[in-house]
Amino acid sequence: MHAKEIILQIAATVIAHKDQLTDLDRAIGDGDHGINMARGFESVTAKLSPLADDTAPAEILKTVGVCLMSTVGGASGPLYGTAFIRLAEVAKNGFSPDNVEIMFDAVIKGIKDRGKAEKGDKTMLDALLPAKEAFAEALRGGSSLYEALHAAALGAQAGSERTKNLLARKGRASYLGERSIGHIDPGAASSALILQTLDKFVASVRG
Ligand code: ADP
Ligand code: MG
Repeated sequence: MHAKEIILQIAATVIAHKDQLTDLDRAIGDGDHGINMARGFESVTAKLSPLADDTAPAEILKTVGVCLMSTVGGASGPLYGTAFIRLAEVAKNGFSPDNVEIMFDAVIKGIKDRGKAEKGDKTMLDALLPAKEAFAEALRGGSSLYEALHAAALGAQAGSERTKNLLARKGRASYLGERSIGHIDPGAASSALILQTLDKFVASVRG
């Protein structure tokens, strides 16, 4: 299983969900999240395609981060860019379950450092924090890495859906105040989508 293949799969999924993500952002933002993410992941696809299939995960993840940082635009670009660059640093230590848990923490810390959002502010963190909690809980319960990744994807999906009830405190949606309630946060939806794609990919490779 190669990092390049996984990222290309994630890119294809994000691009395929462009309209769905944009519709979510139209409700509580400026209607560009899908466009921003699709632009970023098209550029990621172009950057990764010429690289060898077995390029080291850390190099792939750093390339993704740098690329998203400079091409996504919007608030989400620097946030996802930082997340992948932090992932790259931790990926150097491999993919043991414990290290993957550290990867979740590194992503969350990177996004918090950059965007200063906290749990419940109705951002991508409200998908990623429950994902990390579900992942850690699954590992503590004796699950394999694959099972824990599945739990993380479900946790992200549930967290993303729960953002509907939250009032936005960060980003453009916060300008709407109470009117931001009743809509799923687009960044939480894209984070859940990325984790679901990772989970599906890993499950398909395992057969
Ligand atoms: P913009 O808001 O600049 O148009 P996007 O539409 O691409 O950028 O991304 C919006 C998403 O970015 C939001 O749905 C939210 O999940 C995320 N976001 C915005 N600000 C922050 C922040 N400070 N911390 C974490 N996530 C944030
Ligand atoms: Mg937007």
